[in-house]
Amino acid sequence: MKFKYCPICGNKLSLKELGDEGKIPYCNSCEQPYFDSFNTCVIVTMINGDKIALVKQDRISKRHWILIAGYMVEGETAEQTVLREVEEETGISVNECKYISSYFHERGDNLMLGFIAFVSDDEFSISSEIDEIKWFDIKDTEKYLKDGSIAYQHFCKVRNHLVL
Ligand SMILES: [Zn+2]
Repeated sequence: MKFKYCPICGNKLSLKELGDEGKIPYCNSCEQPYFDSFNTCVIVTMINGDKIALVKQDRISKRHWILIAGYMVEGETAEQTVLREVEEETGISVNECKYISSYFHERGDNLMLGFIAFVSDDEFSISSEIDEIKWFDIKDTEKYLKDGSIAYQHFCKVRNHLVL
């Protein structure tokens, strides 16, 4: 999101030269720059042995399976978000998580931090946000994800990290 007005006092912002950053929208009354902002979320491949959990959320797609994802809350580290989101959405606690790669999702203005999360339980207790969840063999997973989507890109990167 690009700021045009100061979110604190409502004044129209003007551009101000800020060193190496170049010209940045600036509020002259609050003396505050407003860099373009975006949301930060995590996208997680949840792995149990040679199985991966995929979810379906009808509000996102009725056809394709997706990965677990969720927005970060202010004050949380990305690792804490992974643990919280996986637990909230699936009812399973994460043994270990590891950062893999990041993606920028233009349409949602989202910076997505891609993680792998290892779990040892396989019984789901899903949140109302999820319409369906299932374990898939990692070897068969590719065809269930939308080609070229961020979930697909992230799954391919994670697969390269796993020794199968
Ligand atoms: Zn202001």
